[in-house]
Amino acid sequence: MPWCDNCDAYRAPTALAPDRTCTVCSNEVDTSDLQGTSQAKAPWHFWLMVAALVLYLGWRLIEGVIWVADRF
Ligand SMILES: [Zn+2]
Repeated sequence: MPWCDNCDAYRAPTALAPDRTCTVCSNEVDTSDLQGTSQAKAPWHFWLMVAALVLYLGWRLIEGVIWVADRF
């Protein structure tokens, strides 16, 4: 967790200056424990969800086209 020792406060990773220093006191904030999480890729079940959603919406689209075609 990015913690500023100078301010004795938590600093959100997005609230830090580009050079990873505190925007309030310019103290260097320890962000070493963020390296793994900030660039983590989406988990495999997220992509499974996306695939299922695409399949479902694709099927509903085909159903909708069939429904419209039936009416004309
Ligand atoms: Zn600070």
